[in-house]
Amino acid sequence: MELHIVKNFIDNAYHEAISDKYYDVYNPAFGEVIARVPETPREEIDRAIESSVNAFERWSKVPVTERIKYLFRLHELIQNNIDEIAKTTTNEHGKIFNESKGDVIRTLENIEAASAEVYHMMGKNNTEIATNIDEFMIRVPIGVFAIISPFNFPLMVPFWFVPYAVATGNTVIVKPSEKTPLSMELVGELIRKAGFPEGVINIINGGSDVVNRLLDSKEIKGVGFVGTTGVAQYVYKKASESYKRVIANGSAKNFAIVMPDANLSQTIPNLISSFFGNAGERCLANSVLITFKENHDKVVSEFARASSKIRLGYGLDKDVDMGPLIREEHRQKVKSYIDYGKENKIKLIIDGSDKVPEKYKKGFFLGPTIFDEVPLDSKLIKEEIFGPVASVIVVDNFDEALNIINSSKYGNAGSIFTESGYYARRFANEVNAGNIGINIGIAAPLGYYPFGGMKDSFFGMLHAQGGEDHIMFYTERKIIINRWFGYSEKEKETPTTLK
Ligand code: NAD
Repeated sequence: MELHIVKNFIDNAYHEAISDKYYDVYNPAFGEVIARVPETPREEIDRAIESSVNAFERWSKVPVTERIKYLFRLHELIQNNIDEIAKTTTNEHGKIFNESKGDVIRTLENIEAASAEVYHMMGKNNTEIATNIDEFMIRVPIGVFAIISPFNFPLMVPFWFVPYAVATGNTVIVKPSEKTPLSMELVGELIRKAGFPEGVINIINGGSDVVNRLLDSKEIKGVGFVGTTGVAQYVYKKASESYKRVIANGSAKNFAIVMPDANLSQTIPNLISSFFGNAGERCLANSVLITFKENHDKVVSEFARASSKIRLGYGLDKDVDMGPLIREEHRQKVKSYIDYGKENKIKLIIDGSDKVPEKYKKGFFLGPTIFDEVPLDSKLIKEEIFGPVASVIVVDNFDEALNIINSSKYGNAGSIFTESGYYARRFANEVNAGNIGINIGIAAPLGYYPFGGMKDSFFGMLHAQGGEDHIMFYTERKIIINRWFGYSEKEKETPTTLK
């Protein structure tokens, strides 16, 4: 059977790019190639940029009250096709069906949040800043935005940017991850059906060559990037060379504290979903579990017991809790951390190295793995692993835990499990991370709130998603000061009672 070649989506039509370089898209559960993505050549990228620039001229003049109606229609179409999109996500990414559905639900939520753009686009004004002079501040869209996304949330992450950019009157070019381009490709057809004018949302496929061309283009005014820290830093610098505004979310290493007073029966399922959901390929996943001498043994044994019940498999099969990793190379990379732990004689509680479901021997599977009493200077504590590997540490007191968390170079998220308001409040105020969970394992902000981390997990000033940040990112503020000479003359003819 011929392999599907992933198409670009320009001016509301699919186009096959002819390239001399292709990337394989896998079904990671089967370990089989299911499609190929071209590294789109420069001429076609430039065609997409031109289309977006032309579309901006018209789209920016469409009233915001009308622009959001296209989003309503897209919302309905995505909602009506949620199962098909989620199946596609499972097939290209590996996450289980319910997790894929969660990805789409979060996508919808961001469209919902962007529907409030009529409110956000409101300006400010002062009448009579001087006699018969009024001053207004209005918001205007900026131009074309490029959105460069990672593999782990094929639809949700592009939609941290797309609905807000277009609702505010900008146009966008989405560059999906070359590892998981199929969900976004599917949504192209829904964008067309929603009736968006040509060129408002274009999709261009490829890898770093496409990213570089988008970053170099003077026509592109802003970039939303999500991915690893090294690439986030590169994108931030390179985009700034052509004076673009940038949001760049990077890697993560998140810590969860389980205080001795935590409600364990509630905490354990939360930990399981946080550490091992999405096979650990989540920027909000906790990866280091901090315990205390008083509760360490109990927490670890219950965490290990629950982890050992996790069923691996193909995400569209029944009774599956965890899918594979994205690629064999990534599996090998995650496994190298397990090997490192073993070589360094770190206490291994559960070893997922060879856990491959019988039916899917070629899949990129790795089972939940737990190391205990991990030394603080170990790379298991310092580096992002991005897989189902948990490291447990034991501390003497809360302040020690806080110091460990704050000495990490990353600051994306963190969780505390406790019944104590005192420790919860201190955790929230003193941990240097962008997303804090109190008795919550995945501190994922609603679409209506800004999404971003701190330290090496985030580069820029304004955050992704909705809330107050996005309106600053996607619009420029313009000041209008006006005086009407005719008004002053009329006023002389009919003086007010004050004069
Ligand atoms: P990645 O950095 O490999 O790729 C991200 C995007 O950058 C892709 O579209 C890719 O094509 C492009 N890219 C890759 N290398 C490039 C290069 N050298 N030059 C230009 N462009 C390049 O990231 P990934 O592996 O797809 O995603 C996983 C990472 O994303 C993890 O580190 C995870 O923590 C992070 N992530 C962060 C957040 C967040 O909000 N902080 C959210 C999701 C994922």
